Amino acid sequence: MGTTVEAKLGYNVFKIDKERHIVIDTEICNKICKDKTCLYICPAFLYKLDDQGNNTVDWEGCLECGTCLICCEHDALSWEYPRGEFGIQYRSA
Ligand code: SF4
Repeated sequence: MGTTVEAKLGYNVFKIDKERHIVIDTEICNKICKDKTCLYICPAFLYKLDDQGNNTVDWEGCLECGTCLICCEHDALSWEYPRGEFGIQYRSA
């Protein structure tokens, strides 16, 4: 693999939990939040708007950096670390 961020992230392994550890309060997100900073600030680009314009998060690919939680100015996110043994396992070459 190369030295790009994408290549380095490719070394990591995810152990997916059935329980989502990030939940968006769509009521707050749709009605109050105009900027939707999470769409742009997530380093893994996991936030996207669906066909109805609702914000969604592909939590299974979460890097557990917490950036979205910090940047959400309307407290629309419930965010916890995945349960023990689940989530990302950071690895290097
Ligand atoms: Fe993206 Fe980091 Fe939030 Fe996970 S914790 S969804 S990687 S910004």
